[in-house]
Amino acid sequence: MLIYVSSTVSEYKNELAELVRAFFPGVTVKTADNIEKVSYDDLIFKCCHKKIGDNIIETTVEFFNGTETKGKYHERFELDPNLSKLELRRLAKNRSKLLLYQALEEITGRCLEWGCLTGIRPTKIVHGLMDQGFEEEVILNILYDDYRVSSEKARLLIDIAKVQRPYFENNHPNKISVYINIPICSTKCLFCSFPSATIDRCNHLINDYILALEKEMEVMSQLAKEKGIEVESLYIGGGTPTSLNVIQLEKVLSAVDKHWGSQPWKEYTVEGGRPDTMDKEKLRLLKDFNVTRISINPQTMNNKTLELIGRDHRAEEIVHCFHMAREFAFDSINMDVIVGLPGEGTKEARHTIEVIEKLKPDNFTVHTLAVKRASRLKESLDDYKFASPELAVDMMDIFYKGAIAMGMTPYYLYRQKYMLGNMENIGFAIPSKESIYNMQIMEDQQTIWAFGAAAISKFVYPKEGRIERAPNVKNIDEYINRIDEMIERKLKLTF
Ligand code: SF4
Repeated sequence: MLIYVSSTVSEYKNELAELVRAFFPGVTVKTADNIEKVSYDDLIFKCCHKKIGDNIIETTVEFFNGTETKGKYHERFELDPNLSKLELRRLAKNRSKLLLYQALEEITGRCLEWGCLTGIRPTKIVHGLMDQGFEEEVILNILYDDYRVSSEKARLLIDIAKVQRPYFENNHPNKISVYINIPICSTKCLFCSFPSATIDRCNHLINDYILALEKEMEVMSQLAKEKGIEVESLYIGGGTPTSLNVIQLEKVLSAVDKHWGSQPWKEYTVEGGRPDTMDKEKLRLLKDFNVTRISINPQTMNNKTLELIGRDHRAEEIVHCFHMAREFAFDSINMDVIVGLPGEGTKEARHTIEVIEKLKPDNFTVHTLAVKRASRLKESLDDYKFASPELAVDMMDIFYKGAIAMGMTPYYLYRQKYMLGNMENIGFAIPSKESIYNMQIMEDQQTIWAFGAAAISKFVYPKEGRIERAPNVKNIDEYINRIDEMIERKLKLTF
């Protein structure tokens, strides 16, 4: 069976298809303008959107099984002429999604916790409503009426927004964060879609890579000085930055220190990621360079799964690495897990959280497996067994309860395409240990200057409500060769 989705407004097409996908996990959903050949078991959703006069919009969703019409849903609504063009477009799109959602609910007999929301940052909607002065109860109602978000998820969004808001109070266009990308890992995990190379393949390029990074940072740090720009947080991510050897890592840390060390930053994160890339020497180095937050990411504490996903280490090494890192007294240690790794169910989730609870990290991040096009997993899906959406929800619940038992509260949340069970990624923290960088970037609250191959700088212009992105090229070789162009892209958006 195939499912086709068409829309008279082409810019809505992908989001409408995504919504249909959430109701039919595992079925191929295609967007199409002209649907000609279909077989009898294919499903078709035709979404039509018509403007009548100046302020009336008429939306229709027609549902076909093969060539037979099975249902027609229709709605007419009036637009407030005082809204800006952008708001009108957003509202019209949302009404189309809502009508399609209601049709899908009726057809399948299912409802989705996130309703018709398909965007990455649902918390942004809540911040927008809070900025307009709406009370919590009104926001809860809006989240249901306009998006059909369940009361549980709506409450979660409000709670997260309340944790975040004090951190955003002193945001200013001249306050930014800095991200440095080391797109290198020791091996490639099965599910990984990040543009990262394995260390054995790119070791010969690393010295030049660090020189290019330095050049990029030198120009921008000079500009920061001239413009009075302050750095609030620093983040070295990847990849796995600790895949670099001690000498290489020291060069990166020295470069960061040279260019950003005098800035009044409050948080400095290095993603350690994998325990097989960490040792005492590297941890000492991180501490010596004033790193305040590190990640040690198990993804799972089950050895069978670790082997299956291509990690070169065992769960016992994660525990050992964590204890070793604790001796260096970093302000905060984060641990990541993934819900829905192949072959895992509630038993495995329970084991993972039991081990993590004993370690007592400061931050705990729960990702939901998303099968991305660029991953090895996508190419070999049939070789693995995955949890059903219902089982994935139960696993998320186990991690959620585990985080609460560790004294944490949720503090950031985002969603991605193709997530198992149409769920979310959620970060927990011991109160006051929330990662500033994670909140600022996820909520699009702050400009992020990003350095290195595959790093994407984000320029936030709050007055205009506008965001511009400046992506660096993904390939390490190309990044080194085109470094001046990468700098130029950022400079253009800074003025
Ligand atoms: S450690 Fe992270 S970045 Fe590296 S391959 Fe695995 S998932 Fe990808």
